[in-house]
Order: sequence, then structure tokens, then C-alpha cells
Amino acid sequence: MSQKYDVVVIGAGPGGYVAAIRAAQLGLKTACIEKYVGKDGKSALGGTCLNVGCIPSKALLDSSWKYHEAKDGFKIHGIDVKGISMDVPAMIDRKDKIVKQFTGGVSTLFKANGVTSIEGHGKLLAGKKVEVTAPDGTTSIIDAENVILASGSVPIEIPPAPLTDDTIVDSTGALEFTSVPKKLGVIGAGVIGLELGSVWRRLGSEVVVFEALDTFLGLADEQIAKEAMKTFTKQGLQVRLGARVTGTEIKRKQVVVSFSDSEGEQQLTFDKLIVAVGRRPYTENLLASDCGIDLDERGMVFVDDYCATSVPGVYAVGDMVRGPMLAHKSSEEGVMVAERIAGHKAAMNYDLVPSVIYTHPEIAWVGKNEKQLKAEGVEFNVGVFPFAANGRAVAGNDAGGMVKMIADAKTDRVLGVHVIGPSAAELVQQGAIAMEFGTSAEDLGMMVFSHPTLSEALHEAALAVNGHAIHVANRKKR
Ligand code: FAD
Ligand code: AMP
Repeated sequence: MSQKYDVVVIGAGPGGYVAAIRAAQLGLKTACIEKYVGKDGKSALGGTCLNVGCIPSKALLDSSWKYHEAKDGFKIHGIDVKGISMDVPAMIDRKDKIVKQFTGGVSTLFKANGVTSIEGHGKLLAGKKVEVTAPDGTTSIIDAENVILASGSVPIEIPPAPLTDDTIVDSTGALEFTSVPKKLGVIGAGVIGLELGSVWRRLGSEVVVFEALDTFLGLADEQIAKEAMKTFTKQGLQVRLGARVTGTEIKRKQVVVSFSDSEGEQQLTFDKLIVAVGRRPYTENLLASDCGIDLDERGMVFVDDYCATSVPGVYAVGDMVRGPMLAHKSSEEGVMVAERIAGHKAAMNYDLVPSVIYTHPEIAWVGKNEKQLKAEGVEFNVGVFPFAANGRAVAGNDAGGMVKMIADAKTDRVLGVHVIGPSAAELVQQGAIAMEFGTSAEDLGMMVFSHPTLSEALHEAALAVNGHAIHVANRKKR
């Protein structure tokens, strides 16, 4: 017997599960189909983000940072700790428990909101029908008034570095090392490569990051990217720019990496190699040939500003559509689509999706950077405040980096906030809130900020935009 739902969601990552919950909250009869099976062999909700992405990587970043602090950062506080050691399997076990807690949490939320959770592979057929292949291979058809595609993305594989069982791995494999590799290679100096490279560097690996491009963190503000490169180099992360990996060979459980850079063809040998060259939309066996969905030239499902596909009543959200591959972008698209299906006039502000790199110091930004504004011919003022002049950062022995605010020269409206430093992600979110409400740098400068807080660096950067910073010499005096 065919079942009928108001909304059927394919994929339970941050795009899909959030869309399903919001749709159910709005009174729509909703089902969500998910096929993911975790490393314990059991089906799990939460997608890439909860199982092998945001959450497990942050668990390892936090564990490795604590180890690094205990080993090298406590002395300055007068704390003398001897016999520090790292139990990697215990760290991985803690990470797995956190993943289970959160994926189980999605299951609980589905029950609480009345979302029907369906295990299996979903495929969109013509006429808004969805075929479900259950784990035992049996198939059934679900009728849907609306379908939300949210099948996410998978790591890109490159011919010079085919994955092996446990020597050449992707980001998922890099979350499962059972010991610290003595020498670790990483291909790709993007967000994922830098975060995972940092985890293992802090635990003692010698890390080389190969980046084919000549520029470092091309999407970040240039001043922030320059500061990041300086800091990572000091931390011992060797980032080789203009270095393209051209081949790999496994020799006695090690991997010989061939690469070409300005000095010609070279080779380096590693115990492990992480391939972190980006992700591609995942649409395998998702779309029947007659379902009518258009893909763009990168294989992404083609959608409009409201995530509507070329088929009325079928939407797509998250990593499988245009825009940054970020969990919060996916989730907000999920909410927007659910609300539009329920008849609300929801829209999303794509100009204010914050970006974060969870290294230490963190790097985060929202809005435009200097280069983008120059290209657009916009005149702007810049205010920069270094954490070295922020009491809270210095007290915490974490005073590297800066807050940089950019505001329109004519209207003083804040156009971008760029931070490298402690709690950069949280500080940038303050900037995002301010920008959402069209705040000027002067407005922020007139607000009272608690002392001593890291947030004062944002306050001072806002003041510096118009030459009024108190705790640093102003570039321009007014
Ligand atoms: P996904 O999370 O990929 O979920 C898609 C789901 O659909 C999967 O569970 C998949 O099994 C399922 N599926 C696919 N096809 C079918 C089908 N036919 N039938 C049934 N189910 C199907 N982003 C951040 O914002 N912050 C971070 O800190 C961050 N860290 C990351 C760290 C790493 C190591 C990685 C790899 C990614 C990280 N990301 C981070 C990116 C983030 O994980 C993704 O942007 C996010 O998961 C995308 O959500 P989604 O719902 O679009 O897709
Ligand atoms: P991101 O897409 O942000 O995760 O970044 C992935 C990075 O990997 C990009 O900056 C690419 O330039 C880089 N990259 C891709 N292929 C290679 C390669 N063969 N050697 C070195 N870097 C590469």
C-alpha cells in the first residue's frame, strides 16, 4: 500500500533533519529517509556533520588542544606537570561517544516532533514519488506532496592519491587514527586540511600540508590569511604553497608523495596521508532519469534563491546545492524550505553566512573583505584591534591575532568582520548579528561592553574604524 506524506526529506544531515523537524512543527505530515550506517554497524541520523564532520573533528581539536596546553602551555602559569602522555584510542573513544550522543539526539527529536524516520536509500521518481530501498533490499514507494532533497556531499578523490585501507585516507579516515603518525602529509590547505593537520600536529606529528595554489586561504581577508600563515608556521605546520601532488606510492606501509613546486619535481615520505581536496555533491542513484531535476556543471542540483528545483514541489538544500558547504547554511536552507512549503514567506540572507576555521587561533569572518569591496568599487574604512592589547586575551595567554572591522566610508554601515584569535567564531557572530540589523561602526562603538572580555576587541575595532580606539594608536585620527 502506498503511503502519502506532505513532506518527504531524503537525507538526515543538518539540512535534511532540520527541514524535517521544522516541517513537522508546522503541522505537515513528514518523513525523513536516511541510509547512513555508523562504524558500529547501526543506522545513524545526523549526516556528515554529526557522524564524520563538524562534531567529531571539533572533539579531536579540543582533545588535542588540551594535550598541547598541558604539555607546553601550562608552564607559563606556573603549573608544572610531568609525565603527560596521550592515549589516542581513549581520545577516539570519547569522540565516538559524543557522535552517538548527538546522532541519538536527532532520533529523539524526530520522535518528539512526530517525524517518521525511514531507514534506507531514497530515490526521487517522476511525479513526486519516492522509492525507498530498505536495508534488506525490499523496495516501497512513498507519495509526497513535497520532496526535499538533502543528500549532502562526499570527499573528492584525486587520481594521484587513491585511498588505501589506512595509509592514504580522506577526512573520515583521519578521524580514526589509532596512534600519532610520526610524519603526516595533508593534501589541500582548505578548512578541513588545516583543522585535521592541526589535530595531529598538536599530538606530535611532523605535518606537511601541500597546496596547489600559490595563495593561502584565498577566501579569507588577505591580512587575516597572512597572520594565519605566520601563526601556523610558528606552530610547526609546514604549509607548502604552489605544491601540487602528482603521485603517491605505498612502500613498506609508508607513502611516498611526489609533488611539483617552484623547485621542480620532489618527493617526501609519510606514515599517513590525508586527502582533503574538497567535497562534491552526492547524488548517486538519487534521481530517476525521468524525474525532471536539473544539475549544474558541477553536478549540483540547480535551485533558485529559495532552494526550489526545476520541478514544482521538489526542493534541494545543503551541500548538494550552490553556496558554501557549511552545516549552518544547510540547516537554515532546511528551515526556509519547510516554512515556504507551509505557506510562509521565508527567505535567507546568503550575504551573512559566517565562515569559521576551528584551528587555534580560530579564524572566522562574515560579510565582505577588503579585496571584494575594492573589486566592487566600494569606499570603506577599516578598524583593526590586536588581541595583544586586550586584557582578557593576555590574561589567558592567548593574545595572538586581531579583530578587523570594515565599514562603508559614506554610511559607516558595517560591511565585514574578520577575526583571527581566541573565540573568533563567537566574536564574528556578534558582528553578524549587528550586520543583520544594519548597524554602523559608530553604533557598536557607543555600546557598553563588559570588561575584561574578548568582545572588547570587537568594540575597539568598531571604534578604530573612525579613528576613536582607546587602547591602541589609531591609524587615522579624528
Ligand atoms: P550531509 O551532512 O552530508 O548529510 C546528507 C545525508 O544524506 C547523509 O547522512 C547521507 O547518508 C544521506 N543520503 C545521501 N543520499 C541518500 C539517499 N539517496 N537516501 C537516503 N539518504 C541519503 N561545517 C560547518 O558548518 N562547521 C564545521 O565545523 C564543519 N566541519 C567539518 C569537518 C569535516 C571533517 C567535514 C567532512 C565537514 C565539515 N563541515 C563543517 C561541513 C558539514 O559537515 C556539511 O556542510 C554538512 O554536513 C552538510 O549538510 P547536508 O545536510 O547538506 O549533508
Ligand atoms: P577546500 O576545497 O577548501 O577544502 O580546499 C581544498 C584545497 O586542495 C584547494 O585549495 C585545492 O587547491 C587543493 N588541491 C586540490 N588538488 C591538489 C593537489 N593535487 N595537490 C595539492 N593541493 C591540491
